[in-house]
Amino acid sequence: MTQSLTQSLTQSLAQRELIDGFGRRVDYVRLSVTDRCDFRCVYCMAEDMTFLPRADILSLEELHRVARVFVALGVKRIRLTGGEPLVRPGIEKLAGWIAAEPGLDELTLTTNAGRLASKAAALRAAGVRRLNISLDSLDEARFHALTRTGKLADVLAGIQAARDAGFERIRLNSVIMRGRNEDEVLGLTAFALDNNLDIAFIEEMPLGAIDEHSRAEMFVSSDELRATLAQRYTLVPATDSTAGPSRYWHVAGAANRVGFISPHSHNFCHLCNRVRVTVEGRLLLCLGNEHSVDLKPLLRDYPDDDQPVMAAIVAAMDNKPERHHFRVDDDSEQLVRFMNMTGG
Ligand code: SAM
Ligand code: SF4
Repeated sequence: MTQSLTQSLTQSLAQRELIDGFGRRVDYVRLSVTDRCDFRCVYCMAEDMTFLPRADILSLEELHRVARVFVALGVKRIRLTGGEPLVRPGIEKLAGWIAAEPGLDELTLTTNAGRLASKAAALRAAGVRRLNISLDSLDEARFHALTRTGKLADVLAGIQAARDAGFERIRLNSVIMRGRNEDEVLGLTAFALDNNLDIAFIEEMPLGAIDEHSRAEMFVSSDELRATLAQRYTLVPATDSTAGPSRYWHVAGAANRVGFISPHSHNFCHLCNRVRVTVEGRLLLCLGNEHSVDLKPLLRDYPDDDQPVMAAIVAAMDNKPERHHFRVDDDSEQLVRFMNMTGG
């Protein structure tokens, strides 16, 4: 193909929006920068994990290229995730490159905060606007048991550093499991509100095989948690929620919000505006289905031509599934992928 034909094809693809077969506009990408992690959360990973060999993962330059191509296709928001994004060397540099892409409205990041104390200021300076921080317990021993390796003090120091660095919004994410931490819902909420943080409670999803606990037995629905919170707080449904899986509530008398991510009890698929890219360069079209496209060969075989990878992304939209089919009463893993491979 001549260079001018390639350029005009790339331009005409770039003028497209990503619309899937159900009319949903995809303008949000969750980009996984590593499958590795310094924690081993009981709902996310098996204790003994094998991680990808280095040759199989995208370089920082390739991750930047993926982000740039999606922005050219109309994507407005990118979230860096993993695995634990802060264990990837050069994460600050990558964040700076992506945040500088013209056309991107917002770069955000999800972290376990174990290493955030030393990285928060640099990430904020690089252009990361908002953070999600995972925190499932405020009890040191319990926190260690849930993460298998994490130290609560490091995470609390990371949260403080993030507050000091001036992120526009910080949200805690808490996966709640019966018998493990459902008695901490009020304490976690009070901690969030006292520290000017939002908080979202997440129903555990059946991603990857774990034998540490029965997901079915430990399921706690968002409605049950909301009833617990209503004993102490007046919750007012938020009308300013963005498209996405979280349903938010304002807390009367407080500046912050409480959210619920309820893949089991309140299906949110009709609002889905997102896709994920794994650190191997696999475009995942749905959190709860295996439909995917391997972008890595297109990135590596055409290092100077974005047209093939753009065309593959545009074509993939027709294969985005309508919805996930997670079942709370089924204790088998319903997807072979763990969340750390998925880009949570
Ligand atoms: N390591 C970072 C962290 O923990 O925030 C980012 C990646 S982690 C996979 C992203 C989010 O996925 C975390 O908030 C975590 O609690 C959540 N998560 C992991 N496994 C899950 C599961 N099986 N069900 C629901 N949420 C899960
Ligand atoms: Fe690591 Fe995040 Fe998974 Fe926990 S939830 S094991 S911190 S990737």
